[in-house]
Amino acid sequence: MTSTTITPDERGSAVEQADGTRPTGGDAAQPERGRGDAKGSLRPVIDVIPESAYERPTWKGLAYFFRDVVVYGAIVAGLVLTDNPLFLVPLWILAALAISALFIVGHDAAHGALFKSRRMNGIIGRIAMLPSWHVYEGWVLGHNRVHHKFTACQGFDFVWHPVTPEEYEAMSPLARLRHRIEWSWFGAGAYYVREIWLNKMVVGKPPKRFVSPIRRDRILVGVVALGVAAVLAWAGWAAYGSVLGALWMVAKVWVIPFLGFSFVIGSVVHVHHVAPDIRWWPRKQWSKFAGQVEATTILHAPKGLDFFFHWIMVHIPHHVDVRIPMYNLPKAGEAIVAAFPEATEDKLRFRDFVRNTRQCKLYDFDEGRWYTYAEAAGRAEREPAPEPAAA
Ligand SMILES: [Zn+2]
Repeated sequence: MTSTTITPDERGSAVEQADGTRPTGGDAAQPERGRGDAKGSLRPVIDVIPESAYERPTWKGLAYFFRDVVVYGAIVAGLVLTDNPLFLVPLWILAALAISALFIVGHDAAHGALFKSRRMNGIIGRIAMLPSWHVYEGWVLGHNRVHHKFTACQGFDFVWHPVTPEEYEAMSPLARLRHRIEWSWFGAGAYYVREIWLNKMVVGKPPKRFVSPIRRDRILVGVVALGVAAVLAWAGWAAYGSVLGALWMVAKVWVIPFLGFSFVIGSVVHVHHVAPDIRWWPRKQWSKFAGQVEATTILHAPKGLDFFFHWIMVHIPHHVDVRIPMYNLPKAGEAIVAAFPEATEDKLRFRDFVRNTRQCKLYDFDEGRWYTYAEAAGRAEREPAPEPAAA
């Protein structure tokens, strides 16, 4: 898998402006590619987004945040009070969705899209990310500065970064097994927990200037996560009168919902950036337009799901300009689709995610195509690697 050891540069880009101003589009240093304009910049795309899509009154961000807190709180109360499997399982699903909703609010805050005030974004964003055990500054580094700046770029983006058939071939049997599990539809949560949460939030050494803010937020999340676990263990002990009861309370209210969230977010991000028709680019061919418009999608979630998803599936406008608050993404998406045929639009269906995971296992960056394991093995047999003459 990729190890992201790049040090993000300091240039202001469309994804980096924290002062609330509209970005200035792509920069001339990008390699040529893309149909947005000759340089593959995002300027022409940003230009079609209506000004009103950037409106983000404070009350609106707060309203979404508090609504999601109340919903999450009610679900937690339900989980504490019940052991009936008929209620438990639906509550776990709802908890995973409610944590995702809060996380998406935190994601908007981390982009500076939720509020105009940096301070407000920092406070609300940190709180909103607590149920998902996410480290705010760690998220800002990995997500804003790497994933958004180099979306679908070989060797840079690290989220669902594909493995090439050759790299897979060179893996140990155990690593191959792990790849097969993580790149299957049911393995999305396992992938997310290891690659994003563990490697970026918990461990992982950030570049020097991010060390201390990330350490501070790691301590915050660690204290809250362990503190909540301790309170729940105490409540479990009081309710069931055994160590097992104490552990059960922690598991059912705090750990299982986190694992459910990891599956939701892992699969959501997969759908955003992995599909048979989504290309990943070698560094030299990558451009902002290719990464942010062509390498992601607009998906319309089934009615009601946006109560939790906050239109994050309308993902192209978010990648074109992260300053657009979540509730204005549909409006911005409509404008982009109308002007750019490259912007793809579809319905969000779980079976499409399952299909994507079956067809997209390995990726050849030069050919620009996805392979299944079988196709990659067949290709290797047809064109064996050059052997030394002695053979
Ligand atoms: Zn984002």
